Amino acid sequence: MALFTCGHKIPDSDSIIGAIAMAYLQEKLGNEAIAARQGEINPESQYILDKFNLEAPIFKDSYAGEDIFLVDYNNYTEAPEDLKEANIVGIADHHKLGGLITSGPLDVWIRAVGCSNTVIKEMFDYYEVEIPKNIAGAMMCAILSDTVIFKSPTCTKVDTKICKELADIAGIEDYKGIGLEMFKVKSQVEGVPMRNLVQRDFKAFDMNGTKVGIGQLEVVDLSIFDNMKNDLIADIASLKEEEGFDTVLLLLTDIMAMGSQILVATNSLDIVEKSWDVKVENDQFWLDGCLSRKKQVVPFLEPSFK
Ligand code: MG
Ligand code: MG
Ligand code: MG
Repeated sequence: MALFTCGHKIPDSDSIIGAIAMAYLQEKLGNEAIAARQGEINPESQYILDKFNLEAPIFKDSYAGEDIFLVDYNNYTEAPEDLKEANIVGIADHHKLGGLITSGPLDVWIRAVGCSNTVIKEMFDYYEVEIPKNIAGAMMCAILSDTVIFKSPTCTKVDTKICKELADIAGIEDYKGIGLEMFKVKSQVEGVPMRNLVQRDFKAFDMNGTKVGIGQLEVVDLSIFDNMKNDLIADIASLKEEEGFDTVLLLLTDIMAMGSQILVATNSLDIVEKSWDVKVENDQFWLDGCLSRKKQVVPFLEPSFK
C-alpha cells in the first residue's frame, strides 16, 4: 500500500515541497510513497517547482483507509475531513501540538524551528540519504519562504545553517537573491480576485471556542495595496459573515519595512484592540515588527478569547 505524504489545507511552499522531499525520502527508505496536496498550488510554490523542474504533488483530499505522513501541520482543522479514518504513520512539523489522536505508534519529528523542510533535512541526515540537487534547491526555497529570508522571529540558527547546507548541495551561491526573487513573485497581486488574495495563505483557528480566520500576504512593498485595501476589507467582512467567523484578520506584511498592516473584520473589536493594546481605525492597524502569524499574532489573540 502506498504511503501518501501531504501538507496542510491551502498549501504553502513548505507543505508542497515538504511533501515532495518526504516522498523521496520514504522511497529511499523502502516505502512506496506518493507526494500529495490538499489544495491549489500558489504562485510562489509554482515558481519553485518550475525553477527546480519538479512535478507538483497530486491532488488528494480524502484519506480514509490510507497511510499518510503529515507534513507542516498536526491538527484536525487543517487536515483532510476524513483524517480520523486514516492511518497516520508519521509527522514532520514545526507547529504546536494540535490534538491529533492516532490508532497506532508513529514517527514524530516536530521541532521548534522555522520550517518543516529544516526538520526533513535533519531526517535525511539521520537516515544518511543523499538529497538530489533539485530537491535540495526547492527545500532551501521553502526555508527562505517560511523564515521570510531569515527575518522572521520563527527563524532559528538551525534553519539558517540547514538552508546554507541545502544551497551548497544545490550548487547555489546567491540564495538570498533567490529568496528575494521568490518574494517578488509572491508580491504580484494585481488582477487577482480579492477572495483569492484573502485565502492565498489563510488559516482558520478555534480560539477557545471562537472561530477566527487569519490570512497573510507577504510582499516587498506595501504600496501595491494602496488602491486595494477597501476592497480587501469588504471581502474579509463578507467572508466573516459567509463562514461564521467571529473575527477575520488579513495581515499585509511588508518584509522590507518589517511590519504588518492588519485589516480587521470582527464582532469583538474590544478583544482585538486589547490583544495588542492598539486602536483599530478604518478597520485596520499597523503592527510594527510583525512578520509572523504564528509567533506575533496567534499567541496574542488566542488568550483574549476566553
Ligand atoms: Mg505551512
Ligand atoms: Mg511551515
Ligand atoms: Mg508562511
